[in-house]
Amino acid sequence: MFYNFGMTTKEINSFTHFDNNVISYLTGIVGQNNIITDSEGIYAYSFDCAHIPFNKQYPKVVVFPQNTQQVSDILKFANKKRIPVIPRGAATNHAGGCNPVKGGIILHFSKMNNILEINNQDLTCKVQPGVVVGDLQSALKAIGLFFPPDPSNLAVSTIGGGIALSSGGPRAFKYGTFKDYVLDLEVVMADGSIIRTGAPTVKNVTGYNLTQLMVGSEGTLGIVTEATLRLIPAPETSNVMLVYFETIENAVDAVSGIINNHLTPSVIDLIDKKTVQTIENFYPTGLLCDKDAVLLIEIDGDTASVKAQEQKIIKICNEYGAKQIDCAQDEMQKQKIWTARRSAFGACAQLAPNVITEDVVVPRSKISELSKGILDISRKYNLITMVMGHIGDGNIHPNFALDLRDIKQKRNFEKAKEELFKLSVSLGGTLSGEHGIGCQKANFLPLALDKTTLQLMIQIKKVFDPNYILNPEKML
Ligand SMILES: Cc1cc2nc3c(=O)[nH]c(=O)nc-3n(C[C@H](O)[C@H](O)[C@H](O)COP(=O)(O)OP(=O)(O)OC[C@H]3O[C@@H](n4cnc5c(N)ncnc54)[C@H](O)[C@@H]3O)c2cc1C
Repeated sequence: MFYNFGMTTKEINSFTHFDNNVISYLTGIVGQNNIITDSEGIYAYSFDCAHIPFNKQYPKVVVFPQNTQQVSDILKFANKKRIPVIPRGAATNHAGGCNPVKGGIILHFSKMNNILEINNQDLTCKVQPGVVVGDLQSALKAIGLFFPPDPSNLAVSTIGGGIALSSGGPRAFKYGTFKDYVLDLEVVMADGSIIRTGAPTVKNVTGYNLTQLMVGSEGTLGIVTEATLRLIPAPETSNVMLVYFETIENAVDAVSGIINNHLTPSVIDLIDKKTVQTIENFYPTGLLCDKDAVLLIEIDGDTASVKAQEQKIIKICNEYGAKQIDCAQDEMQKQKIWTARRSAFGACAQLAPNVITEDVVVPRSKISELSKGILDISRKYNLITMVMGHIGDGNIHPNFALDLRDIKQKRNFEKAKEELFKLSVSLGGTLSGEHGIGCQKANFLPLALDKTTLQLMIQIKKVFDPNYILNPEKML
């Protein structure tokens, strides 16, 4: 059950009310070429990467604003008419975060995709929400700067989506996630007013930290129309290696060994045997397919430091029983390894009509228990599961390959999912490390949050969005 925020059924049902005047009004704001109302277009925007019909509804209209004022005008209107507004980047989130579960207006940011400024002195940049993460990283790399968050689909995912989910990626172990790089946001509130949440400064303790409240709020508190991000100097060089172990426990112990030796690789990812086999079938690169676990380790820094780190890590991994260590010898091998890693989701998608990527996080010391528990749960419910994740952060992504049209499989998956969340919480972890809650996990929040905390969150939502128009039924 979703919280109804004290609204009557009549009020909630009034969300579906829509007429042609609405379309004319929105066309007046964004122009004829920036609006979709035909049924094929509407269908295409009725789901996101989670691809699960949560309370299946279609948006009534998709609009492509080109500036903040247009977003403000749309929200003023939608708020007055009580029409839901669902912000959308590349729609690659796994949690049903862009699902128009109450119909309404999809606000698509692909036409607000400019890098407005890169400030070499202050080490900041100002961007619109539709900028693709990979495009920003390329523009920065060309001038020796670095924005580290790297969701594995950075070739398509957007800054707006990354901020709304506080996305991470493999490099989070050393560099953190989106939340660590957002200094200031321009946000359009539910009533159309435009605010700034922070300042373009690295330090700021001026009032409540609204910037961090917005980060990870999944479009439920306001719409991000501009972001000032913190940058760092790009590391001089990097290298990547694959280290194979007979068991997941051996791999986890080796990770502790690396960290206890005061080494901080930029990436420590775990890929299990089933995932390696699936990647190798899909994108053959010569990965070793008969070991239970492989660590993908990336180190960065200046050339001498990378060499030294590499030698130390090889020594430690051998002490922990590594069966094979493959270090990339040149840029091409590096890219090959990364492409294989980033192909994992696509590869899993070959196995069944649906792939559901879960996202749980535990203290790093509990990774072995979590991984073992995931495989036990999968066996119990007869599910094909591939385990991978950012082991350095305690963040695991089991990929479940299944056919959701099969009622029994679907039911089994639902049971497995609940057990997975309970397991994560029982190990001191929580429901999401980087993919967010969306509508997929909203029902499970009480597992991880106490009643008072949940009530406080509901009150915050009411203050920011009293008419409940912003991305309804997400998160709470
Ligand atoms: C193959 C694959 C690999 C992935 N790898 C990773 C990974 O390594 N790490 C990781 O963290 N995630 C990963 N993801 C999940 C997801 O892609 C990322 O979280 C990504 O940052 C989402 O960006 P998007 O542009 O697709 O956002 P969307 O899916 O479009 O939106 C995400 C959320 O943000 C909200 N939103 C979008 N724009 C705005 C805005 N302007 N203002 C307010 N709210 C907004 C939406 O309503 C929604 O709730 C992966 C996904 C795929 C498919």
